[in-house]
Amino acid sequence: METISYEYEGALYVNLTNKCDCSCVFCLRHNGHKGSIYADDLWLEHEPSREEALENLLARDYTQYRELVFCGFGEPMYRVEDILWLVDRLKEQVKNLPPVRINTNGHANLIHGRDVTPELAGRIDTLSISLNGSTAEEYCAVTRPRDGEKAWEAMLDFTRKAAAHVPQVVMTIVDKDKTPEEIDRCRAMAESLGATLRVRAYIQD
Ligand code: SF4
Repeated sequence: METISYEYEGALYVNLTNKCDCSCVFCLRHNGHKGSIYADDLWLEHEPSREEALENLLARDYTQYRELVFCGFGEPMYRVEDILWLVDRLKEQVKNLPPVRINTNGHANLIHGRDVTPELAGRIDTLSISLNGSTAEEYCAVTRPRDGEKAWEAMLDFTRKAAAHVPQVVMTIVDKDKTPEEIDRCRAMAESLGATLRVRAYIQD
């Protein structure tokens, strides 16, 4: 059974795609993994249609969740139009929908060739963007993006633009082999873009 949505630490996570334009060294999709610590069977043999995803999400009891999170297995913003459609339908049909977050690599504008950030306004409460390094070289070494350094620039530009439309924009780094100086540089960079920095604990594969 493929997993469209799953619960983790009081939040409901949604998995709409395997697609990604990165190949991060730590990505769980490598090495034949089909699931993660969060749920088994995250690899989607077929991507659910927006209607299938809505049916799945409407079957949930939202009084139980503190947040609704669109995230992996791949990069959710490949399906930004479907995410926004789903959020609109859920806001119409679910009383007291919890805040909505998207976990993203920040490449949506590069992937779609247009600025999608204005469309997030009033729909998405939090964006969590992977920063993964304080320089383009470091970023590319870790995330191995299809478009190279252009993806680093696109991610920074996306963050800056999103901060004008989304109440909370957070950039994340994983605390692995990072010096305090590097973390400080990441924090300064995030703040200069209108975001805050969150340092995540490293989870061994
Ligand atoms: S951005 Fe996320 S889904 Fe894409 S390769 Fe990196 S960890 Fe995997």
